Amino acid sequence: MLFSKSFIFTQREDPKVAECKSHKLLLKGGFLFMVSSGVYSYLPLGYRVLNNINNIIRKHMKAKGAQELLMSALQPIEVWEKTGRDKDLAEVMFRFKDRKGRDLCLGPTHEEEITEIIRRTVFSYKQLPVILYQIQTKFRDEPRPRFGLMRAVEFIMKDAYSFDKDNQGLDKNYQSMFSAYRDIFTECGLDFIDIEADSGAMGGSISHEFMVPGDIGEDILFYCPSCSKYFKKKGKCPDCGKKLGGKKMTEIGHVFKLGTKCSQASVRNFLDQNGKRLPFIMGCYGIGVSRIFSAIAEVNSDQKGLVWPRGLSPFDLSLVVLDSKLLPQALELEKALESQGFSVLIDDRQEAAGVKFNDAYLLGNPYILIIGKKYLKDETIDLEVRKTKESKAFKKEGLIKFLKDEYGR
Ligand SMILES: [Zn+2]
Repeated sequence: MLFSKSFIFTQREDPKVAECKSHKLLLKGGFLFMVSSGVYSYLPLGYRVLNNINNIIRKHMKAKGAQELLMSALQPIEVWEKTGRDKDLAEVMFRFKDRKGRDLCLGPTHEEEITEIIRRTVFSYKQLPVILYQIQTKFRDEPRPRFGLMRAVEFIMKDAYSFDKDNQGLDKNYQSMFSAYRDIFTECGLDFIDIEADSGAMGGSISHEFMVPGDIGEDILFYCPSCSKYFKKKGKCPDCGKKLGGKKMTEIGHVFKLGTKCSQASVRNFLDQNGKRLPFIMGCYGIGVSRIFSAIAEVNSDQKGLVWPRGLSPFDLSLVVLDSKLLPQALELEKALESQGFSVLIDDRQEAAGVKFNDAYLLGNPYILIIGKKYLKDETIDLEVRKTKESKAFKKEGLIKFLKDEYGR
């Protein structure tokens, strides 16, 4: 893709509204557009990154047999009154009336809606188990939206729901989702931990949180550096007796064994093999997708800009063309790289080299290719590895081989 034809607008100055590193870099690099406090639009660069994250999630959900659906964001309040959670979530729920005076809300979560779907479609134990998930925009009227996508009013979540006929089934699906979440966060390159949690507003018996450490975290865990273990409560480490230190954490995922809490509330049930009516045994599993987006940006940057991990960056490579005579060769190189599955952003603009490099750094693609004088002489392509700051020189074939090794293809 040509930079000159792309909708990419970086900012030279640090945005004044920025509240943390990721917020600053995502605005400055033209990934996000701030609509208002806690509300963001994903510009084409940001949307490419978001889709990379979503594809990782979809791959691991598919591997566990979960099926994707998309529920409505607009929900009638009646479904919430059945479980009583309209009261629990009253402060954060966006509520309003339609022209007929009917009460509606913008979904802050979807347990109620999914159980309505299941109640009207699943009647027999033969249809169970089911795991459904969606990647969707949710709304919570946050009192203090902060840190860009970290604590937003409108945000994207991946939420999955399992329905089983018995507790053994729930245990199995809980484990299955738990391991999928570990795989997803690992593939996103996040240094995460999991810890047993309080279930809070969701209720239910057992739950685990996935968290990443960082200065902008709004939760605190207690940590023993000798044993590398985290705890919910302060005190001394049970293994070595040392005093635990507090560490700021951000929650990026949460899994719950809900059991029958949601399904009993409105007599949602199925017939078992003996013709007896039983409530569904339910689990729910959430990932803060837009939060992951920020969490990745927060820990992957240097003084010059973002440094996306491979597989998450908007493009695999930035190709800086230093002499406009070389554009046909750049296009040829792009073709060769794309045929091997690599995406390339060619900076063909009539700009000074400094401007082009500055933007390549802000965009944070993991590899920067440079073609200029050396290419004119003997077709040498320079490559800069953003993460290690190494520079290498290649001919076309060598470059492709190097990249294939890097990406494990
Ligand atoms: Zn210890």
